[in-house]
Amino acid sequence: MATSQVTKYKNYIGGQWVDCESGRTYPITSPASKTTVLGEFQISGPEDAAAAVQAAQDALQGWSDTPAPVRAGVLYRALEIMRERGDDIARTITIEEGKPLADAQGEVKRAMNITEYAAGEGRRMFGYTTPSELPNTFAYTVRRPLGVVAIITPWNFPIAIPAWKIAPALICGNTLVFKPASGTPLSAVKLVEVFEEAGLPPGVLNLITGPGSSVGNALVENPLVRGISFTGSTEIGTGIYTQGAALLKKVQCEMGGKNAVILLADADLDKALGGIVQAAFGSTGQRCTATSRVIVEEAIYDQFMEQLIDRTSKLKIGDGLDPDVDVSPLSSQSQLDIVMGYIGMGTEEGARLVYGGKSLSGGIFDDGYYVEPTIFTEVAPDMRIAQEEIFGPVLTVFKADGLEEAIQISNNVKFGLSSSVYTKDLTKAFQYINTVEAGMVHVNAPTLGGEVHLPFGGLKSSGVGQREQGTEAVDFFSEVITVYIDHAGAPRAQARFI
Ligand code: NDP
Repeated sequence: MATSQVTKYKNYIGGQWVDCESGRTYPITSPASKTTVLGEFQISGPEDAAAAVQAAQDALQGWSDTPAPVRAGVLYRALEIMRERGDDIARTITIEEGKPLADAQGEVKRAMNITEYAAGEGRRMFGYTTPSELPNTFAYTVRRPLGVVAIITPWNFPIAIPAWKIAPALICGNTLVFKPASGTPLSAVKLVEVFEEAGLPPGVLNLITGPGSSVGNALVENPLVRGISFTGSTEIGTGIYTQGAALLKKVQCEMGGKNAVILLADADLDKALGGIVQAAFGSTGQRCTATSRVIVEEAIYDQFMEQLIDRTSKLKIGDGLDPDVDVSPLSSQSQLDIVMGYIGMGTEEGARLVYGGKSLSGGIFDDGYYVEPTIFTEVAPDMRIAQEEIFGPVLTVFKADGLEEAIQISNNVKFGLSSSVYTKDLTKAFQYINTVEAGMVHVNAPTLGGEVHLPFGGLKSSGVGQREQGTEAVDFFSEVITVYIDHAGAPRAQARFI
């Protein structure tokens, strides 16, 4: 492993870049180049988490007293810096997480959009007034920050997900401790540098890297932490939600998905194929909103399968830095092991492997974690590949005799994040919208994506707590205080209060 001249990155606590207490670090490598060490990062422990929380607590009064439109000024400067550095940040994402550069650029754009949107909230942050039932009484609501908030994020969107938590949390006046995924700490450092240079006062945003089991847990348990915003697996999210709720903290968890597309016989097949292939295999299937199931109406099944395989076979696999590449490496050896495990399981369970299924070797493939886009048919609804989140480029295809059966298959999983139907029939589209179990519903569009001024999140095991983004983000990151002001100017008969 090439470790000479490796940069050692630090934690950011109270406005200083510092080593963790133990002084221990860990290396990270690139998914497309396993032997290239991108940096050494701090293996923080509970004591570092406590120091970061204390720094955030110390900065809270000053930041929450800063008027929201002034806080917005810092976010607008951060936006400008992101614009200037967009290419460098996107390249970092590709080198560190593995996704194609165009996807990484889209991710940076998403981070910029949420920063801009959150900055605009600095001039809104609405409460409301309403008539009081008492004379000469003014009643209104106002928002206050939660306080210190822990931000815990996954590796698959190492810039956009932290940004869509950090920007709304900051505009609401909270101070933060950010714990990124252990696999993508370099992107996290780049993001924190942006906010530092934008002029965020010391202690308002703190960064600690290290294992979730020790650092993340210490954040969740710390009594000074009033809110937790988590994105990651359903397993870890469930534990955090349970633990946070028991301590009466405000918690939001965005978690896994098993997103399905329903393809009806009257749909524009070409459009549907484009959306399905992009959402199943783009970003190597490592998106929470990736399409992992397609439910096809019987009448067009054979035609669809033929064209699906044809399109999939044309995808170029390679290093995400190559602009022609469609499918880049998985993010790590453990992701490769998980995905290959599911592919093996699918075959053992009796599903029919009709395309792909192999990890790739030879040439550039030996340097990274490459797997072929993979398609299974004849998948029974109770098979593990039909039920569990694989988080890789593996698509399972089902046949249905019509919309009703298709919706039944779509809803027959514990997840409910994103969903899509392709049809030209408005009646069927609305029947779908009204019955599909998903937090985000698309018609004639892929399961991917979302806009920052609209809420993002899932039902069932995909999400719990308030939605992210949109005005819902302000709702999560603030407390609503109700105020009654008696301005009668003289004593009055006491009302009977309950
Ligand atoms: P994990 O749940 O493994 O980790 C998420 C974060 O939690 C990481 O920072 C991790 O740290 C940390 N963590 C781990 N254990 C604990 C703990 N005991 N206490 C506190 N924090 C802990 O998810 P992945 O990083 O593997 O991300 C992939 C998952 O994220 C997929 O399931 C995907 O669907 C989901 N996701 C959901 C989205 C949504 O909006 N619904 C969007 C994007 C992804 P460490 O890395 O050190 O283990």
